[in-house]
Amino acid sequence: MRDATIRMARGVRLDLVHVSRWYGEGQARIAALRDVSLVIHPGDLMAVVGPSGSGKSTLLQLLGLLDRSSEGAMSVDGREVGGLDDRALTRLRLETIGFVFQRFHLLMGQTAIENVALPLEAAGWSVGERYARAAYLLDQVGLAHRMLATPSQLSGGQRQRVAIARAIANDARLILADEPTGALHSEDKAGVVALLQAMHASGKTVVIVTHDEQIAAICDRRLDIRDGLVTEATGRGRAT
Ligand code: ADP
Ligand code: MG
Repeated sequence: MRDATIRMARGVRLDLVHVSRWYGEGQARIAALRDVSLVIHPGDLMAVVGPSGSGKSTLLQLLGLLDRSSEGAMSVDGREVGGLDDRALTRLRLETIGFVFQRFHLLMGQTAIENVALPLEAAGWSVGERYARAAYLLDQVGLAHRMLATPSQLSGGQRQRVAIARAIANDARLILADEPTGALHSEDKAGVVALLQAMHASGKTVVIVTHDEQIAAICDRRLDIRDGLVTEATGRGRAT
């Protein structure tokens, strides 16, 4: 039987060197990210802040190996991802990264425990191991009593806690959250923020895209994006 519990683990290091991402060609070309050079250290808790359309989700998708840059290089723990084929990229993503989205992205027809157990199936866990792990994780996020509820029977805050349990099911060492509290009532926010902080405390690298200044304020580092240009506020995080 595999160990169901959350282990301390070293976070992921990401290096971006002159990374750009544009969409379309010629006159219709939109530069979503322009010449971003950045090091994200293992154990960073980083906020990414910027207006709508500034490139935040584009950056998160590159960091999450869901997309490839148009120019420049990125490496994960020193390993350049440009040279990996789609299969290798997918495997690295499944083994390393957990995503949390504003709109949860849960399977509506499945229970909380089924949603959390799902990524473990692709990772080759047996049914018994998957459900033991999912039950443990739901207990960790305060939902032991709601394991058999479907998302439609849960509040927004509870749904996001299910999504967070799913994000860490594979022992992800990098958590990428895109406006994780954007669809939540203020009373649900605190629980979600506390969970993201707990993941950071357990050693994971955590990157949070947010409009919420209160969330940005609890992060160690803050990137601001405007029209695809990334700047880091100095005097509070690490220089890169
Ligand atoms: P944010 O998350 O900050 O709102 P995005 O990263 O989603 O911004 O988008 C940055 C820019 O890239 C915007 O101008 C957006 O319209 C454009 N963009 C994003 N995705 C695509 C796409 N798949 N095709 C064309 N343009 C896109
Ligand atoms: Mg976005």
